[in-house]
Amino acid sequence: MVSFVSSLCGKISPLSLKEYKDNGGFDGLQKAIFHMKPHEVVKVIEDSNLKGRGGAAFPTGLKWKFISMENSDEKYIICNADEGEPGTFKDKILLDGCPLQIIEGMIIAAYATKANKGYIYIRGEYPKTREILLKAVEILRDEGYLGDNILGQEFSFDIDIRSGAGAYVCGEETALIESIEGNPGRSRFKPPYPPSEGLWRKPTLVNNVETLANVPLILSFGADEFKKYGTEGSRGTKLISVSGNVVNRGVFEIELGTTLKEIIYDICGGTLKDKKLKFIQLGGSSGACIPQSLLDIRLDFDELRKYSIGLGSGAILVVDESTCIIDFIKNTMEFFKHESCGKCTPCREGNRHIIKILDRIQGGEGSERDIELLKNISLLMKEASLCGLGQAAPTAIFTTLKYFGDEYKEHLKGYCRCGICDMKGREE
Ligand code: NAD
Repeated sequence: MVSFVSSLCGKISPLSLKEYKDNGGFDGLQKAIFHMKPHEVVKVIEDSNLKGRGGAAFPTGLKWKFISMENSDEKYIICNADEGEPGTFKDKILLDGCPLQIIEGMIIAAYATKANKGYIYIRGEYPKTREILLKAVEILRDEGYLGDNILGQEFSFDIDIRSGAGAYVCGEETALIESIEGNPGRSRFKPPYPPSEGLWRKPTLVNNVETLANVPLILSFGADEFKKYGTEGSRGTKLISVSGNVVNRGVFEIELGTTLKEIIYDICGGTLKDKKLKFIQLGGSSGACIPQSLLDIRLDFDELRKYSIGLGSGAILVVDESTCIIDFIKNTMEFFKHESCGKCTPCREGNRHIIKILDRIQGGEGSERDIELLKNISLLMKEASLCGLGQAAPTAIFTTLKYFGDEYKEHLKGYCRCGICDMKGREE
């Protein structure tokens, strides 16, 4: 385990500006606005090779460059704090533990990209965190870090807090933008991407909480210090949220490049009651189910890509042998069915049909044709859904069919090895 982006969490009072500054807080901002031009700040972020920590790992410096090149006198910075991916609770640690660091990251981003207004979009299920953020913004406004002429400079930027209302899809950046505009949270077609056309159709930078929390440290210590962590293609650290059938659950900061085996056995103490590990799901419900045999995989963007796996939000769900694959997938797909915004047909109808097929298989009435249907519908959703929700929803189906195909076949023959599914249909 390492302590870089989360080093102040639990160490200082979250809302004490004095303690934050005594521990290096606002050094990054001071360095940026007193000693650097906006494009030089963008260059430092590019040099650090920081990649988005929300899930998609898009190069942060490149995103900043796109919006800084836009010629508009109205630009926005949005901190995406709508962490709705099941099993993901790592941003909450930062939001509760060091809100000033995240806001400092937003102010630096605003200076670098010449934005004048920011929003923190916080998930509705985090009401106490919202209160902390409201106070943090007020403190920083009173102390001249937000508002007009920040620290006496010709640079003005202010932040508002907006709350979600429990919709998973609002974590998708364009649905989030729609929600801030007061519309139902439904994704837009991309392109245009938010850096060219985002909030109120103006250039908008949307960055995840953890991404922004890394920014002050990179500015303060330099890109090279950040690059000491991680691997060649995956620099820095990552917060992971571990849950499920494992001894130590919670949020841990690791160096990128750490193997899944090290995380589960060295950091998290192995499975509960030493039961046999069946798989881990990486990146929440929209992530891949990775069997025991692949636990030597490093959490490194390039290595994961070789296996067509994404790190996603860094959620790690540990699942032991007592869990039935079909039951697990059904539960996962119920979530997506419930959360689909309904705008595009592949996602709206695909999730519904997959549940019907899984119901048949669980009830002992499944056939080989159902497996083919599952594959085809999943492929269609992946290729044709409008946003990440529908595109990623069938990831668990693809990966369990690949690694646990035998268990699907057993269900077609009326047998559930975990004794969970009610296979009445087949018996009759
Ligand atoms: P994406 O690949 O479409 O985009 C990633 C980011 O890069 C976006 O900000 C996008 O605007 C930007 N981008 C991509 N191409 C661009 C271009 N040509 N020009 C300008 N900007 C460009 O992915 P996404 O749909 O935003 O995110 C998907 C990820 O989100 C998944 O990996 C999933 O794991 C993750 N996720 C996370 C949570 C969470 O709680 N943290 C919840 C759901 C999903």
